[in-house]
Amino acid sequence: MYFEAIGAANHDLDDIELMTDRAVLEDLSDVFRGQGSMLVCHFCDDVSEIIAGILVDKESEKAWVLCGPCLRQVPLQGTLASQ
Ligand SMILES: [Zn+2]
Repeated sequence: MYFEAIGAANHDLDDIELMTDRAVLEDLSDVFRGQGSMLVCHFCDDVSEIIAGILVDKESEKAWVLCGPCLRQVPLQGTLASQ
């Protein structure tokens, strides 16, 4: 469902990278705050949820930010968690 939503359903999963580095996420949040905006989950648009990860499509160079609850529903999470 989520991969269809981001248009990545037909992509090789090797091209999708999940980034959950807290330091990177905090830096990114600071950048957004500095611009007077907020980092909001692309899937649920819930501003009260803290961003927990970023999905990066290396092929198309697109990225989507995800909150914790949405991140847990991404099928990649299980395979990447062990890395
Ligand atoms: Zn969400």
